[in-house]
Amino acid sequence: MTKEKLELVEVSPRDGLQNEPDLVSTENKLALIDHILAAGFRRLEAGSFVNPKKVPQMADGDAVFAGLPKRADATFIALALNLRGVERANAAGAKEINYVFCASDGFSIRNNGGPVEETFKVWPEVAATAKAAGVRLSASVSTAFGCPFDGEVPVRRVVEVAERCLRESIFELALADTIGVASPADVHERFRAVKASLPAHVQLRAHFHNTRNTALANAVAAVEEGVRVLDGSLAGIGGCPFAPGAAGNVPTEDLLYMFNRMGFDTGVDLDRAIEGAKFIGGVLGRKTPGMVSRAPKWPS
Ligand code: ZN
Repeated sequence: MTKEKLELVEVSPRDGLQNEPDLVSTENKLALIDHILAAGFRRLEAGSFVNPKKVPQMADGDAVFAGLPKRADATFIALALNLRGVERANAAGAKEINYVFCASDGFSIRNNGGPVEETFKVWPEVAATAKAAGVRLSASVSTAFGCPFDGEVPVRRVVEVAERCLRESIFELALADTIGVASPADVHERFRAVKASLPAHVQLRAHFHNTRNTALANAVAAVEEGVRVLDGSLAGIGGCPFAPGAAGNVPTEDLLYMFNRMGFDTGVDLDRAIEGAKFIGGVLGRKTPGMVSRAPKWPS
């Protein structure tokens, strides 16, 4: 029996590192990316093109993209929040851009520089710019499960924002639990609601943080809703500079162990992923949240 495919998108070089107070060198970011590729990941967030004054850790995006291995079998995603970021990503040679909107105004004002309504004004131009550059474009809806400033985010609001994302040509739509407040029931409800208006050619992606230890359960719920693309960050590093109290992303190696045991094929080697998790933990010089990398090997 052939196993069902599940794509794990590795976000440690971007979401994982962006909140780290001490600057990680470009060299170490590229070494992390080598570990990620060696483990078998074929799609990863390599960096973001955002205001370097606001997110100093991502200021070397150009250098990271310039230093990426030339591999036709790997996709390196650049994250952008505005037209300038898209233009910088294009100039850096990014082949895929993840453009981020928010479901809540409170977070949008701090993260994207304006209320949600205002951030969509530039969306047609962003899509046209990406298309002209031959870049694959995906959209993320952050704070899709709750906002650190506005509190609960209604389901209908998430659907509205998702529908606006879908007015331009994207190949993928992500719902992100930016601050890790979702439960599996929320995941079922929100992905189901968004699926109702999703064109067949657009795939879904889920992005979870483990702030309240619900991320693995949420990942299972997303897969039960038909999502086949999940974000993870090796070692469970990560957080958001504009989301107070947001802890790390779901540890990719923990996701990988679980979905391996559930019979999915991710194309990623667990031992090599653990090596990557240990590498970045060593660079950061502290204990990281991932659990599988600290557990005895199973089956032994
Ligand atoms: Zn995140």
